[in-house]
Amino acid sequence: MDWHAVSNREIFARLKTAESGLSFDEAGKRLAKYGPNELPEEKRLTKFKIFFNQFKSPLIYILLIAAAITFFLKEFVDSGVITATVFLNTVVGFFEENKAEKAIQRLKKVLKYRALVIRGGREHKVNSEDLVPGDIVLLEAGDKVTADIRLVEAKNLQAEEAALTGESSPSAKSVKILGKGTVLADRENMVYMGTSIIRGRGRGMVVSTGEDTELGRIALTLREIEEEKTPLQEKLVKFSKWLAFWFFIAGIFLFLVGLAQGRSPVDMFLIVAAVAVASVPEGLAIVMTVILAVGMQRILKANALVRKLVAAETLGSVSVICSDKTGTLTLGKMLVDHIFTETQSEEARMRVLEIGLLCNNAIVENPENELKDWVISGDSIDQALFLAAVQAGMDKSELEKSIFRIDEVPFDEEKKYMATLHEFKKKILGRNFSPGQKIIYLKGAPEKIISMCEEVEANGHIEKLTPEGIRKFKKKIDELASRGLRILATAYKLNSASEEFGEKNLNGMTLVGLVALKDPVRAEAKEAIKICLGAGIRPILVTGDHMLTAQAVAGEIGLAAEEKNILEGKDLDKISDNELDKILKNIDIYARVEPRHKLRIITAWQRRGEVVAMTGDGVNDASALKKADVGVALGTGTDVAKEVADIVLLDDNFNGIVRAVKEGRTIFENLRKILVYFFSDGFCEVVLVGISLLAGLPLPVLAAQILWINFIEHSTPAMALALEPEEQELMSKKPVKRNAPLLDREMKAIIFSKGVFTVLALFSLFYYFWSSTENLVYARTMTFAGLAVYPLFSAWSLKSLRSAVWEKNPFNNKFFNMSMVFSFAVLLAALYIPFLRDILRLAPLRFVDWFILICFGILNILLIEVVKYFSLSREKRKAV
Ligand code: ADP
Ligand code: MG
Repeated sequence: MDWHAVSNREIFARLKTAESGLSFDEAGKRLAKYGPNELPEEKRLTKFKIFFNQFKSPLIYILLIAAAITFFLKEFVDSGVITATVFLNTVVGFFEENKAEKAIQRLKKVLKYRALVIRGGREHKVNSEDLVPGDIVLLEAGDKVTADIRLVEAKNLQAEEAALTGESSPSAKSVKILGKGTVLADRENMVYMGTSIIRGRGRGMVVSTGEDTELGRIALTLREIEEEKTPLQEKLVKFSKWLAFWFFIAGIFLFLVGLAQGRSPVDMFLIVAAVAVASVPEGLAIVMTVILAVGMQRILKANALVRKLVAAETLGSVSVICSDKTGTLTLGKMLVDHIFTETQSEEARMRVLEIGLLCNNAIVENPENELKDWVISGDSIDQALFLAAVQAGMDKSELEKSIFRIDEVPFDEEKKYMATLHEFKKKILGRNFSPGQKIIYLKGAPEKIISMCEEVEANGHIEKLTPEGIRKFKKKIDELASRGLRILATAYKLNSASEEFGEKNLNGMTLVGLVALKDPVRAEAKEAIKICLGAGIRPILVTGDHMLTAQAVAGEIGLAAEEKNILEGKDLDKISDNELDKILKNIDIYARVEPRHKLRIITAWQRRGEVVAMTGDGVNDASALKKADVGVALGTGTDVAKEVADIVLLDDNFNGIVRAVKEGRTIFENLRKILVYFFSDGFCEVVLVGISLLAGLPLPVLAAQILWINFIEHSTPAMALALEPEEQELMSKKPVKRNAPLLDREMKAIIFSKGVFTVLALFSLFYYFWSSTENLVYARTMTFAGLAVYPLFSAWSLKSLRSAVWEKNPFNNKFFNMSMVFSFAVLLAALYIPFLRDILRLAPLRFVDWFILICFGILNILLIEVVKYFSLSREKRKAV
């Protein structure tokens, strides 16, 4: 349809809608007819792909070749075991990965976008899924466009359409009718799903939704976009490849040694293949996905939504958090504390309230209910002013009938004010305005407003605003601000008919008075700031608010700052990057900043090598959110900010950032535990087999046994370690450096000492039992059981790399407990179920054998504890 090429009237007719919008009934019917306004998912493709990904690894090929060879040699048992291993591995891998992917997908849907529509003659906020063709939608800067819309009104409207046209500079919108052949990128009178409004305001009709939108059409033809791998995932892949290479070399070497010794080539091939396959931590990539998915879910519990996978791991390295004040550190539930006017007359007070009520974009979502149950949405300052005026007995819709709003200069963080233009429609009792006259109402940051004023209202008449008068106001402002109150000034001006309304002619206004708003700090903010400081993270307040208000609030949450530690936006403008670098460390608060200042603050910290998280909520914050290592959008912020952010604080709470950082650290920590766990395993098997070969002994374990141990015994504890709960200790050390190596000194020490000990112990056991009993099956059973048991013991120790095993509740992770039960059960099954025992060529163990194995397991734990002890005390010494 050529929606862009027809007149408004025709569109109204075609869509069977009116200025007052659809009725609720009709909207419901259309929703049933057209379906929800969503893009289809490509789930089947993804599942299929995840399944096939499991076969992509060269290790699986090696196993399949081994299965084929043994099959042709009529070694059906071996062939069966190998095939079963491949099968199990694929199925388990598939389920794990699929589950993790699904969890991540689900998380992406937590964020709901809402649209402001007119239905049944009134404004309503509806979920974007519920939009239907014919809905009248109101758009403003910061909104995400969630359907294809033909504009019928556009005021300085600009949209960013990169998602659709690839063009990243904003395109200006208008309502003129275009030629039929106009290409999508030039359709000025349309805005499309997937784009965002970055300036101005507009109104339009939804012409298509869901799959019928332009984006929907692309999405249907678009191939599935695979999520980019995070740096850690990439590191793991590289690491696995590197390991695979060396194990491959070692394998070839052992194979040749075996041949030279006259051993059977098939046996040699099988054992080498099994060892190689078992040694490479293939499952790591999946484990990483699981860790990230679990981490993201935990972060969500703190009401923070991770939008980008990579953020989940970057969070752990965050070393500077730049936070907004309003809503994040304070409750963001503002209340008018009091009103200050020149003469404190009732008349002036009512005028302040009227300006606050009419120069206001808050809307009541349920006006049919009683006043006390009203749900008011919109900017928190607007909500507070709205409420104060209503409580003083004003009725907005009634007032607007006489003082009709015809235009607006919307608030943004840069201007720090909002202005509206009204026309008097009918006479109001006691007011000397005549119908047709226009008036401008203005509210905003007091310095800004006062600088636009020439007069002041006092005692029912108007006086010149003298320097003396300004001083008086400023004194009052400072006094209120240093009590932590937020201050807004209000003003008005009669607008002559010839004068154009806009940012440029907001001068010569009449100041009416100040509104002081109370916004209590969040109870938990103080604790969160303390945690930050203890965790080596620098909290910094970056606010658009008044310096003294910021200072007072900071003091309340334990971020005491003296005047020399506060920098105002306008002073930041005066200094060079060089000078900023010099004072950067001393600045705790940036006050009266504009969004562009945030960018400078971020880059300055990044120059020092810090990892910076920055909050933002406005349209203009988008570039700062992108630039920050972790961009944090507020849940109450604009869609645009949420779109580009790495995480969204659903309840705006600063605490959410701190909790997210903690989870980020847990993600990295758990990955390390698993690495140590995986690593010691394969390493021991290769060396054990190698030593036995070189010593001219029979093989200490068989291929099938190794596969059993690695794929059946040891994979569940690894997964369970991924689910380890967060550790308190993680927040009492410095952030992990962004490019920290996967294995640190402590881990290498654990892997090495444990490896050497295990190999020596198992080799001695094997040699002793074999030479003393000449019973090879029995000696192998001991090695098998040893290899199976020791990781199950050491895993307890690896549950925490930060504290001794006895300092923590060992049963705090129920998945871990279950995995232990499972793994021990599987071991007992292999040893005592005759069928399995025959297949795996094992013998039953005696009581004393178990005693030896358990001692061996406990020694393993002790060894790790010793290494941990030394590295922890070294860390403590360093910290002192
Ligand atoms: P913060 O960093 O606390 O979120 P903002 O950037 O949102 O601060 O606001 C900066 C200043 O702009 C406020 O101190 C206030 O004076 C003014 N202001 C905030 N919201 C509005 C609004 N809705 N209308 C007019 N002025 C506002
Ligand atoms: Mg704000």
